[in-house]
Amino acid sequence: MHHMTLAEIARGLADKKFSSVELTQTLLARIAQLDPQINSFISLTQDLALGQAKAADERRANGESGALLGAPIAHKDLFCTQGIRTSCGSKMLDNFKAPYDATVVAKLAAAGAVTLGKTNMDEFAMGSANESSWYGAVKNPWNLEHVPGGSSGGSAAAVAARLLPAATATDTGGSIRQPAAFTNLTGLKPTYGRVSRWGMIAYASSLDQGGPLARTAEDCAILLQGMAGFDPNDSTSIDEPVPDYSASLSGSLLGLRIGVPKEYFSAGLDPRIAELIHNSIKELEKLGAVIKEINLPNMQHAIPAYYVIAPAEASSNLSRFDGVRFGYRCENPANLEDLYKRSRGEGFGSEVQRRIMVGAYALSAGYYDAYYLKAQKIRRLVKNDFMTAFNEVDIILGPTTPNPAWKLGAKSSDPVAAYLEDVYTITANLAGLPGLSMPAGFVDGLPVGVQLLAPYFQEGRLLNVAHQYQLNTDWHTRTPTGF
Ligand code: GLN
Repeated sequence: MHHMTLAEIARGLADKKFSSVELTQTLLARIAQLDPQINSFISLTQDLALGQAKAADERRANGESGALLGAPIAHKDLFCTQGIRTSCGSKMLDNFKAPYDATVVAKLAAAGAVTLGKTNMDEFAMGSANESSWYGAVKNPWNLEHVPGGSSGGSAAAVAARLLPAATATDTGGSIRQPAAFTNLTGLKPTYGRVSRWGMIAYASSLDQGGPLARTAEDCAILLQGMAGFDPNDSTSIDEPVPDYSASLSGSLLGLRIGVPKEYFSAGLDPRIAELIHNSIKELEKLGAVIKEINLPNMQHAIPAYYVIAPAEASSNLSRFDGVRFGYRCENPANLEDLYKRSRGEGFGSEVQRRIMVGAYALSAGYYDAYYLKAQKIRRLVKNDFMTAFNEVDIILGPTTPNPAWKLGAKSSDPVAAYLEDVYTITANLAGLPGLSMPAGFVDGLPVGVQLLAPYFQEGRLLNVAHQYQLNTDWHTRTPTGF
């Protein structure tokens, strides 16, 4: 049962082959048995799950249908869940039970999805390896000595290990696409504003976006359908109708113009990954796509700009964790200043503290123009590069990451080495564009992802290309040994 995709589960439930309660029990037992190896969950919500599953079975018995009705999922532990711990991977919020559901959580629950638990993540979504979680590192099911990627490493490892078919995740600089690449999944970061951020604990508000992690493009379409849409509670959410993503899967790729940026194939890219990317290009050419070389001349400036903007916004967003209103409070504070200092010093881990300091520095009066303002100008140039490129091509294709998943601990003492791994993903966040990563092969037994980027609101186009690719390749069907 655990090998089924969301689409297969929907068919099985509709045909009464099994009930949502049976499926939920099977997966909860599997999580109890296997998760200790990979540490992908922070909290399990068995009672909630069984209650939701029973309600979904009753709705189906009363004639209701729907692709998510009775489907088991999990939420990255930065989506607020009412009455349930929402930790953001941090000691700071270990005792925090959210007083309300995030819009994404509420929408998926209304569609009948069953929440099995909350998944592990880098602390406050800062990281690319899921090693900064206060709840311990997550391990990659493809090789337990390697990282699963981050910050949505728990969601990715759980889905890759077949503990559940799909999970929610968020992507500020690559945290859906990079763990998808490292664990052989399909992950979609939607256009900024497509999915509500209400109740999604903020890291860098102008970059954060929620989206689906699943094994197939078909399943990403199903989960995105349940997540997307205008939300009056989120002033950056966009009031555009949500298309039928599943209906967009079947279009032909004949004549599709794919842009391949010259800058993507520079010295930093593992040549074995480059070869797999070229293979995926050939595959898409066979399906009728036309390849065109393009340029993204400002790509080289994206990492420095991102690592000014994201910490700047984080330093502001995380100022609310002050030991007073919610979250961790130090023991016996001597006075107010001591309360702030020790609550934040003891509650936040070292990567979060580093980013708060970098961000506060970049925003300070004497340095604002030199760092933050300059970074925002680069952001515009990066966006303009994409706008120029999309005048000539329909999608942009390249690697998701320069290297496959590294060994646990390999980059933990060198934060900049980890930042450099974000080179292919962060430009989409800076520009607000949708991006997808899908399985493209293996290097030394570790999965490799190919990334597709599209113009604003063209999530359907990304899903279409990925689905057609997956109908003609079998990388996405490969399963890690032992799971
Ligand atoms: N690795 C990037 C960072 O650490 C992206 C994280 C994310 O997308 N949440 O900021």
